[in-house]
Amino acid sequence: MAIKRIDHTVVIGLQWGDEGKGKFIDFLANQFDGTVRFNGGNNAGHSVKVGQTTLHFSLIPSAILRKKPVYISQAVVINPKILTKEIKMIQKLGIKPKLKLDPRCHVVMPYHQLLDTASEISKGAGKTGSLKLGIGFCYEDRTNRAGVRLNDLTVPKILRQRLEAVWQLKKLRVTKTYNQPFALDLEKTFKRMRRYGKLLKPYIFPVSEYLQQNLAQKSFLFESAQGTYLDFVFGSYPYTVAYHTLASSALPDCGLPPIHLDVLGLVKAYVTRVGGGPFPTELNNKIGAFLQQRGHEFGTVSGRPRRCGWLDLVLIKNACNLNGVNQLILTKLDVLSGLESIKIATGYSLKRKKITTPPANENDWSKIKPHYLTLPGWQEDISHIKQFHLLPKNCQQFVNKIKSILQIPIKYISVGPDRKQTIILN
Ligand code: GDP
Repeated sequence: MAIKRIDHTVVIGLQWGDEGKGKFIDFLANQFDGTVRFNGGNNAGHSVKVGQTTLHFSLIPSAILRKKPVYISQAVVINPKILTKEIKMIQKLGIKPKLKLDPRCHVVMPYHQLLDTASEISKGAGKTGSLKLGIGFCYEDRTNRAGVRLNDLTVPKILRQRLEAVWQLKKLRVTKTYNQPFALDLEKTFKRMRRYGKLLKPYIFPVSEYLQQNLAQKSFLFESAQGTYLDFVFGSYPYTVAYHTLASSALPDCGLPPIHLDVLGLVKAYVTRVGGGPFPTELNNKIGAFLQQRGHEFGTVSGRPRRCGWLDLVLIKNACNLNGVNQLILTKLDVLSGLESIKIATGYSLKRKKITTPPANENDWSKIKPHYLTLPGWQEDISHIKQFHLLPKNCQQFVNKIKSILQIPIKYISVGPDRKQTIILN
């Protein structure tokens, strides 16, 4: 198949997620024929502010608000209860969702949630900070070929076979390995899943085949859940999700050949992370608290406060290399207004040696010593500014420093949650 060059784009977070992907997927969606979510489950949370209303999504790409088609690829795991709720929320807004679900998507079952909760309890102090939504356990079954796929919910005989094949094993694992109650009933679960199967059937569509066949005529915007450092191989393992979050994974995750993708990397002007795990530039002080309050850094899905720290360009540079970033989006710059000075990590030492990439070894992460560059802050509110040259001089200096260290152009700067609070650079 000869593929004509069309500019497909992937949007990727370059930190630990929550960089503002929701806003930018919504912002960019109109420039494309369709938006494709290619990984994760309802552990991703996006908030989009449209006028006075803030909408929260965890499965459906925020592009749905643009009334454009949105596609969910096979590598997304679907909690049918959450998905049907989001569909209803969209319908209530008077929008008919142009939503297409790959039949190969795996389904997050109630026993995945039970297992997630039970295993997190059993880890005690070593817990990974799972949201207990069952996502990792669903991916485990997917890899082990013990999962239930979306299409199975529409075929009673297959659904029953799938449930019967794993039920006893799940029950034993929860009750005997983790010593927790298993308050689920196979028959009730079967009936519940059949109901969801009927509700979701109209949205099931051969997503991979459609994308393959339309690559040369239509342009697609690909959206990754979470961020680079939650990738289960190249992130801060084991404090990660259970799948790839990198730009290149969009292709196998959608069943696509190795085509060119433009990669737009999102960088928040500071760093946040939810849950446990290493965080070299973390601020456990009043500046960290300032960023948390000013940036409303509380999880969309969990409500948990996010840990905050200085912008870390060692992480970003490595993330740009991992993802092949062509252009950057700098978000939440407005949050930094009011700080006297601002630090940027530009290098690391590990055991007195300089290193240029984050370590592969879990133990070494916690021993990293960041080297900082200190820049003067600015006091002015910048959330209404529409052009770069109107930003305070110190703010411009901060942005230019990032650009010169990373050597990658910045295409957009976000100065507030609204679509309109965006500076477009040439
Ligand atoms: P995602 O997980 O990367 O999609 O991040 P979210 O979409 O959840 O964004 C994080 C939060 O930041 C949301 O509440 C957004 O409304 C908000 N947000 C996005 N961009 C900006 C910005 O430039 N400034 C401010 N103050 N808030 C923003």
